[in-house]
Amino acid sequence: MSMIEVKKLSKRFGDTEVLKRIDLSVDEGEVVAIVGPSGSGKTTLLRCLNCLETPSGGTIRVGDIVIDADRPLKAQKALVRALRLEVGFVFQNFNLFPHRTALENIIEGPVIVKKENRAAAIERARALLARVGLSDKADAYPSRLSGGQQQRVAIARALAMEPDVILFDEPTSALDPELVGEVLATIRDLAAERRTMLIVTHEMSFARDVADRTVFVDGGVIVEQGPSRALFDNPREERTRRFLGKFL
Ligand code: ADP
Repeated sequence: MSMIEVKKLSKRFGDTEVLKRIDLSVDEGEVVAIVGPSGSGKTTLLRCLNCLETPSGGTIRVGDIVIDADRPLKAQKALVRALRLEVGFVFQNFNLFPHRTALENIIEGPVIVKKENRAAAIERARALLARVGLSDKADAYPSRLSGGQQQRVAIARALAMEPDVILFDEPTSALDPELVGEVLATIRDLAAERRTMLIVTHEMSFARDVADRTVFVDGGVIVEQGPSRALFDNPREERTRRFLGKFL
């Protein structure tokens, strides 16, 4: 069984239909890149997957949690909560708590949401900081960290919740060019561990090299998808060719 199964997912903002009955399934351990022009619905798709955005219709299944967006989400609060525990989210702008240190940011979810023992959470947070190469930054506040360091803390924070799936929304697009590499390297390490991840990105060479599959979205629909190398080297659709051509 796939880890994620999205069926006929739609999203409207007022009269604008931003996602048009999208079907998508992702296997356990699969890394999927989502690419496409600006405004095509990539971020909205990702945000709907953990109900940061309320979908207008369709169904979303992650593991054995099923959200039926044809019914009001209010009536499915417990399911939405369960979904968010299983689906980590890494934001373009990091979204760290500014008045908490790196370590405090990482233990917040485990201690407050999951009611984990604080000492155990701290120990795990230190291990996670080491994993993202920031052992010496445990007590630093976000404002004292570079964008790349902040994003690595945000990734450690997502990992601390031990989610089944991690969603990355343009994780490097707020970074100065010289800091992009360190964040991509961290994500590449996670991909090597066969974690289930969806990554909205404009880093085409990263998508081609790291993602098992790339999905090309345009105008709120999936125009084409396939194994990343095949899609980049030999796109079938004219729209895909035109989009990817800009990056060659
Ligand atoms: P992408 O990530 O591909 O750049 P988005 O998913 O951010 O695209 O946006 C898709 C479309 O939805 C855009 O036309 C955008 O203006 C619109 N949109 C996104 N968020 C909102 C919102 N909160 N309210 C109204 N329109 C929105």
